[in-house]
Amino acid sequence: MPSWAADDVIQSPDSQGQDGFSSASGIGPREMMKRLRAVMASAEPAQIRLDGVVRTLAQAMRAEVCSIYVRGRGNLLELSATEGLNQTAVHRTRLRMGEGLVGDIAAKARPLALADAQSHEKFAYLPETGEEIYQSLAGVPILRAEAVLGVLVVQNRVGRQYAGEEIETLETVAMVLAEMLSGPEFENVRGDGQDADAPIRLGGETVAGGLVVGKAQLHRGDIVLRRIVAEDPAEERQRLDAGLEKLRETLDTLFEAADVAGDGEHRDVLETFRMIADDTGWARRMRDAIETGLSAEAAVQRSRADMRARMSRATDPYLRERLSDFEDLTARLVRILSGEDSDAPLDDTAAEVSSGDEDIVVIARSMGPAELLSYDRSRLKGLVLEEASAAAHVAIVARALDIPVVGRVDGVLAEARPGDPIVLDGDNGQVFLRPGDEVRESFGQALDARSAQRRIFESLRDKPAVTLDGERVHLMMNAGLLVDLPQLDSSGAEGIGLYRTEIPFMARREYPSVEQQTALYSRIYDATGDRPVVFRTLDAGGDKPIRAFEEQGEENPALGWRALRIALDHPALLRQQIRAMILASNGRPLSVLLPMVSEVGELKRARDIIDLEIRRAQQSGGLLPREIKVGAMIEVPSMLWQIPNAASLVDFFSVGSNDLLQFAFAADRGSRKISGRYATMSTPFLRMLRDLVRDCAEAGRPVTVCGEMAGRPLEAMALIGLGFRSLSMNASSIGPVKRAVLGCRAEALADLMEDLCRVHRKDATGILRAFARDHLVAT
Ligand code: PEP
Ligand code: MG
Repeated sequence: MPSWAADDVIQSPDSQGQDGFSSASGIGPREMMKRLRAVMASAEPAQIRLDGVVRTLAQAMRAEVCSIYVRGRGNLLELSATEGLNQTAVHRTRLRMGEGLVGDIAAKARPLALADAQSHEKFAYLPETGEEIYQSLAGVPILRAEAVLGVLVVQNRVGRQYAGEEIETLETVAMVLAEMLSGPEFENVRGDGQDADAPIRLGGETVAGGLVVGKAQLHRGDIVLRRIVAEDPAEERQRLDAGLEKLRETLDTLFEAADVAGDGEHRDVLETFRMIADDTGWARRMRDAIETGLSAEAAVQRSRADMRARMSRATDPYLRERLSDFEDLTARLVRILSGEDSDAPLDDTAAEVSSGDEDIVVIARSMGPAELLSYDRSRLKGLVLEEASAAAHVAIVARALDIPVVGRVDGVLAEARPGDPIVLDGDNGQVFLRPGDEVRESFGQALDARSAQRRIFESLRDKPAVTLDGERVHLMMNAGLLVDLPQLDSSGAEGIGLYRTEIPFMARREYPSVEQQTALYSRIYDATGDRPVVFRTLDAGGDKPIRAFEEQGEENPALGWRALRIALDHPALLRQQIRAMILASNGRPLSVLLPMVSEVGELKRARDIIDLEIRRAQQSGGLLPREIKVGAMIEVPSMLWQIPNAASLVDFFSVGSNDLLQFAFAADRGSRKISGRYATMSTPFLRMLRDLVRDCAEAGRPVTVCGEMAGRPLEAMALIGLGFRSLSMNASSIGPVKRAVLGCRAEALADLMEDLCRVHRKDATGILRAFARDHLVAT
């Protein structure tokens, strides 16, 4: 297990104990828990009890202010009890979710600690509370089964830096409060957090494509704790150990399920997960929490809150991904300790939706891979995540199960209710909750149209892609996961034009051995049979972090130490990769593609390394590939002016239009803010490609396009007009692109592109669309 991000919270200069409690006040953590228990158990009205909680906590933490905001009707957070702020503001001050620091804590469901709260951009001045004299603030969400019920806040006059332990104390009290707030006395205050039945569209990002309609199922990583404090730590320790043992057993059973038992990247993900469950540091932290008077399940919950707070500061995607795994495990362990079925989905609303056989779309803040596997696969049709991007572990497993996923959908859990109708448009990264009739109808039609289209594409599958005027265009597919391979047959691709070897590496902790790589490449050869396959050597770095090569502190990783640059500094890695490919080829032809080539000298050095490995294979007397071809990616603009020199060193070229566009326009391909601002169909970019086709033809070397543009029918038509005759794309694009190829004339497209390249267009997609319409090309 990796060492977790260091806790960078600075100990408060005025805090006196390691535990965040004031020795001056005489209240230690156990005493505080005892007093809170007494407050909660009393028969006093709810308001008196809330007042008791804020008073006790303010004293224990030496905070001048302690307040509770309760989330009520209309999604407003109402100041419901305070020690230190003006009492006249109680039940009058209300904040919207996301408004002010309190609203921010609620909206993000994350703790916040600020020594100088007033200079924070989210600070909202509330004159009626008299809070302007308090400089520092720490707050945590009050969560019950991941629903935000309110916010607990402390404030101090001085610029106090709250220690990590103090945040943990607040979180522990918030757990106690969550129990109280969900009781019947608060029903009047509490709304259901919803604004009626309004339909709502939420944007996110595509993690796995596809379109589905179903009923929302809210996935709660947490379950409701029945017991928070405990008298006998020894007994709780025993319960914890027994719970951990049971957890390991349930994981074994879950991972043996038939649909995930086979090899594949998801297997690595699951094994990593199992290692976290075995981590002794985690068990120790939970035992420490038990010593402070918590029950075993509350100790687990606290370890989770603690990890979440620490990891929210981590920028490393690998570490962030570990957090989802960890949350999956803690939720599972809490269920075991609470005597609930740990194999069932962790969903406290399941009963409302689970009845019947409707298709479900699961909505979660984040999720570990095992949690996804806990759902009934026959009904699970889609997944919406507030966090997680395409590289998330749960995404890799979702792809293995062929489920569309939209990630980074802010606020979806706050908006959705169990059983809500939901449309998930994975292709466009959007989610429609409670869609109106029109939206439903149009998606219903889209679903019908998709099935109809799928039938058309299937009927074209075995037809060669030839234009109306007889130009043959080779359509290949891009792959990077074993789960992509079955689509080779179903899509009718002529082969694999780009196999991204880094993708399987991304899921692993260790760099794979030659044997492991050989096994993987052999499976790809087996799946491709006689069809060609192009293996791209490791394209690590930039947007594809691989743990073994993470170079810390680079300001521009996309322009930094990555891909071929790493390989040339570590020739053994490239040699091992080539060795594995030669072994896997077992006498069949081998095509190797080098990524991110910037300068022809790099090609020369890479070739030398490859030749060395070929000689080694010859000397060892093994079976050599029937033919070995080496190609260069054209994705760094400098290569556009080195084609004649590069051609003497390679057999083919392949245009990485995704990166070429990013580097040509200095526009980060991962930036949400500028996405779509610069187009592959802009005339400067098209001219670049036109000149490249000319130079490759003069140098006598074939050239393919393997970036995303090749898979979009209008752009594929433009590429054909520019002279490309080989395109490699995602499998799902083969059908649509083939249909366009079959319906167009290459000569007419060439004329169109020639005219277009003479003028300036920021984006010529509309012109191609008009051409397709005029020439009756289906796109
Ligand atoms: C590209 O850059 O266009 C490409 C095909 O490679 P990747 O998307 O893997 O960087
Ligand atoms: Mg690239």
